[in-house]
Amino acid sequence: MIINVHDHPYDQKSGQILFQFFAKFATERHYLDGTVVDRGGFVQSPEESIKEMDEAGVDKTVILNTGPIPNEHIYETYLKPYPDRFIGFTSSRPVILEGNVIEVNGFNQKNWEHTKYSLQELGFKGIKLLPAYEKYSAVDPRVYPYYALAAELNAPITMHMAGTPVRFVSLNYARPLDADRVLFDFPSVRFNLPHMGWPWEDELLTMMIRASNLYTDISQLGETGIKRMAKCLITARDYGVLSRVMFGTDPLCRPIKMYIDFIRKGINKIADEQHERPFTRDEIDGILGKNALKFLGITP
Ligand SMILES: [Zn+2]
Repeated sequence: MIINVHDHPYDQKSGQILFQFFAKFATERHYLDGTVVDRGGFVQSPEESIKEMDEAGVDKTVILNTGPIPNEHIYETYLKPYPDRFIGFTSSRPVILEGNVIEVNGFNQKNWEHTKYSLQELGFKGIKLLPAYEKYSAVDPRVYPYYALAAELNAPITMHMAGTPVRFVSLNYARPLDADRVLFDFPSVRFNLPHMGWPWEDELLTMMIRASNLYTDISQLGETGIKRMAKCLITARDYGVLSRVMFGTDPLCRPIKMYIDFIRKGINKIADEQHERPFTRDEIDGILGKNALKFLGITP
């Protein structure tokens, strides 16, 4: 079974909302030659996504809702029509933001209630949080009711704690270490701090040794390259935490099949070059799907 544990909605409406959301952060990022980076992602209907999954051999994809896209829209577009193919994570926003200023006592009670409703009534499986983008710390007391909700409902959390090339985010809130305490305050909640914590992979892998409820995914692979990724996977294995590393794509890893082939075969070419022992079939199956089953708390 192959599970893509990190992807986003790309249908027309989501694409439009996300473009505006990320444009706010990304307006001044340029390539070295001065052209403006378009990080608006791409538009793809759920049916096209399923076709892409079928071609790559992906059984299930986790749709991480993000920013201001209503959870209802994800439910109507992805989860209700295709319950066997898509797994939903709520877009959750613990802090009320007015422009760039955090309001005093701006706990987003309405959003907390809506997150609970989405988990209980709309069949969402987990919660997605974006601390650095929305300018709050993972240990902000206003986020704790969300962790408590996850503990109560046995819902895993994916929380972006990793670098990002886009500007205007609070990068000090993006370091994996900022979430360290939360892992121990909520030992029953399974957390995915994705992208292997890039560029703080060592920090994240060290945290994983200590916290058995901490998972990660390799969805930054499309941006940081295969050599760096192979080194991280070898380190994860050396540290004994590889069974909590999961396959994910984000919009970056396309075509998906190329990245699956890399995990299946390419990684062992690099291991061989570096005189490391090859990854076993079991370890590879774990990365591609079995580890995600544990994180998601689902039986195949
Ligand atoms: Zn993502």
